[in-house]
Amino acid sequence: MGSKDQNQFQQTATLTPKQPTKLGASTALLGASLAELSAWVQQQGQPAYRGRQLHDWIYHKGVRSLTEISVFSKEWRSTLADVPIGRSTLHYRSVAPDDTVKYLLRLADGKIIEAVGIPTEKRLTVCVSTQVGCPMACDFCATGKGGFSRNLAQHEIIDQVLTVQEDFQRRVSHIVFMGMGEPLLNIENVVAAIRSLNEDVGISQRSITLSTVGIRGRIHQLAQHQLQVTLAVSLHASNQELREKLIPSAHKYPIQDLLAECREYVHLTGRRITFEYILLDGVNDLPEQAAELAQLLRGFQSHVNLIPYNPIREATYQRPSSRRIQAFASVLKQQKIAVSVRYSRGLEADAACGQLRTTHT
Ligand code: SAH
Repeated sequence: MGSKDQNQFQQTATLTPKQPTKLGASTALLGASLAELSAWVQQQGQPAYRGRQLHDWIYHKGVRSLTEISVFSKEWRSTLADVPIGRSTLHYRSVAPDDTVKYLLRLADGKIIEAVGIPTEKRLTVCVSTQVGCPMACDFCATGKGGFSRNLAQHEIIDQVLTVQEDFQRRVSHIVFMGMGEPLLNIENVVAAIRSLNEDVGISQRSITLSTVGIRGRIHQLAQHQLQVTLAVSLHASNQELREKLIPSAHKYPIQDLLAECREYVHLTGRRITFEYILLDGVNDLPEQAAELAQLLRGFQSHVNLIPYNPIREATYQRPSSRRIQAFASVLKQQKIAVSVRYSRGLEADAACGQLRTTHT
């Protein structure tokens, strides 16, 4: 995407004097609170209750243009046509045999991101992206292989949740920040999006999980926000040497330092941490590595989530057999480490963990 298109986006997305001035640095309405929307309508000579209507129509009725808000007067509505709400357009949609739906969404500047809707009887989970691409370049992850383009804005994160909610015609109950990108490299927009998803869309913070590979100082920064979300840390290895082979950024951030920051997080927030551990056949799934992992996490308020590898075409790793997966899990259990195995959904639609990319061919 050339810089010309980027400028075009900024022009259309920048708010004119008629448009929100009380909405901070935001280039779109999504992300604005009820109080901010009420102030904005009042600036335009409208009564404050129009703010509640606007809030309802953008967050719950899914309007894509303010001209669709039929409770507003025709005259006022006609002046609102250019106010950006912050919605993406659907570029591609595919449904896996397990009913997981993958969406490629086109942003205002033409960039494509991916979101995934994962339904069960009781839950509708959305897996959201936080960046276009990802700079971390983990060796087993398709997103990292595609390079990095930019951070997502707050409204671009919220939009993914609304898109899945509208498509399923069902309330989203859970959100996992496990799509494209490294959330803690975009911490301000991610935290702002979490607050809005909680307060404006109505999703409990406790039903939100944020997954990170671990960026020095950022887990500490996240703790300062005192959110009630679950933090998941992608550990993937039982020692520094192995972790560096799988995660290039690990050489700048030794595993012991990462774990120290995690311990501090537990102390500051009182919340448990989940450690994610991808299982790669013959690489990090040996029983002695499970024992080493147990040693590393001894005395830690945590839970280990084992993720059997989902194949990507750029890597030659293999998923271990279920026997090996179970053997790894049972070593952890014997050492009194809480453990579960997460079989990713959406594998057949290339919508599972690590398979997210911006193309569908
Ligand atoms: N950047 C964040 C979110 C990434 S995706 C992070 O690193 O945590 C969420 C999880 O999927 C991470 O634990 C990631 O390591 C894992 N993952 C990536 N590629 C995978 C693959 N091919 N198979 C299974 N899990 C994968």
